[in-house]
Amino acid sequence: MGKSRRGSNLGPNQGVAKKWYSWYFEFNLLYRILIGLVLGVILGLTLREKILWIAPLGDLFVRLLKMIMMPIILSTLIVGASSVSPANLGKVGVRVIVFYLITSAVAVVIGLFMGTVFRPVAELTSLAEAVGTEVEAPSITQTLLNIVPTSVAQVVVNESILAVIFFALVFGMGISYLRVSHNERIKKGGELLYTFFDGIAEVMMLIIKGIMQYAPIGVLALVSVVFASNGPKVIGSLGLVTAACFVGYALHVILVYGGLVKVYGGLSLKRYFKDAKNPFITAFVTRSSNGTLPVSMQAAQNLGIPKDIYSFSLPLGATLNMDGTAIYQGVCAVFIALSVWGRAFTFPEMGIIVVTATLASIGTAGVPGAGAIMLLLVLDSVGLPVIAGSPVAGAYAMILGIDALLDMGRTALNVTGDLSCTTVVAKKLNQLDISKWKT
Ligand code: ASP
Repeated sequence: MGKSRRGSNLGPNQGVAKKWYSWYFEFNLLYRILIGLVLGVILGLTLREKILWIAPLGDLFVRLLKMIMMPIILSTLIVGASSVSPANLGKVGVRVIVFYLITSAVAVVIGLFMGTVFRPVAELTSLAEAVGTEVEAPSITQTLLNIVPTSVAQVVVNESILAVIFFALVFGMGISYLRVSHNERIKKGGELLYTFFDGIAEVMMLIIKGIMQYAPIGVLALVSVVFASNGPKVIGSLGLVTAACFVGYALHVILVYGGLVKVYGGLSLKRYFKDAKNPFITAFVTRSSNGTLPVSMQAAQNLGIPKDIYSFSLPLGATLNMDGTAIYQGVCAVFIALSVWGRAFTFPEMGIIVVTATLASIGTAGVPGAGAIMLLLVLDSVGLPVIAGSPVAGAYAMILGIDALLDMGRTALNVTGDLSCTTVVAKKLNQLDISKWKT
């Protein structure tokens, strides 16, 4: 996107356009999206059907997000899995990964529970009539079997998310073995593949950044169509989504991290949070697990965790372990199902969500907003694909409007989860410097 001047003597209109252009790209994205949300609500409520022409601008945003979904899952998961060296997969690795997986799965369950308790529902009546509300739940055995694809190309084309995740993990692990091979030729191949997919993942991140510049307009268009077609009755539901997420976050901190550190690890919670609060707050304001990594490492050091443990587990956690994101996905999935289908999930569907959201949180990059893209994948897995113009897209857009707020809480939880698991693993391996806990 070049900012080249076409001429030095700008006319008055060009001058105004240029000012808007610079304001748009220089103003904080978070505020821009919020402004888009509020404007969308106002325009939808005041202009009603007169604003419906704006729908294609929202559809464009949905299409852009869908376009990026498959390549980003493939590349980030392959890179994530291939970065874990088989040697580290031993004592520390297996423990850390098991903790990460279990806490993420518990987080999804908390999210689904919170969604069920708060029951946030937007009555998207006029839109919902456009589609059937009955969706046949797939059998659990078939769903599990379908995780293992028979054709990789086909699952990518058909967007069968779980199968793609499975393949990406297996493939990534294969690369990690190649990378440590004693055979130079094989090792070279492994490094080449790693660099190739790492490069793709970086390009995807760049593309997402670009797409997010369009988010304020996309959100404005999507939200105004929702409010134009449904009226003011959908406002309260967003407050409920936010409340359900934040109560879920708080519960997870108390039950899971409190339980891990205090009950399982036998450590003082007060002492733990004396240092753990720094990464918590940094993550809350930056909305990036990756960006918070240096602060988390400092906290781990202050807590007496040995470097060879935290330097492996924290970067891994920043990419793989996303408890806050998992809670958010559970709540949002319930919100969308209630709003679109008018019913909650069945148990088999909940099972699918626990599996997909746990895996999706692994595939979520530790950057602002990544969880919202992975939500597309969770929705897809239970038959709620975000298709331009559909009620699912409307409900999804509403969430996107408040995503920044939800992202602050979930990122704070994501990094606290990494630190809690790391602390407990160090303690259980008798490698924690307990003298640091006596202060
Ligand atoms: N922002 C989150 C993180 O960095 C990811 C997400 O959007 O859920 O951990």
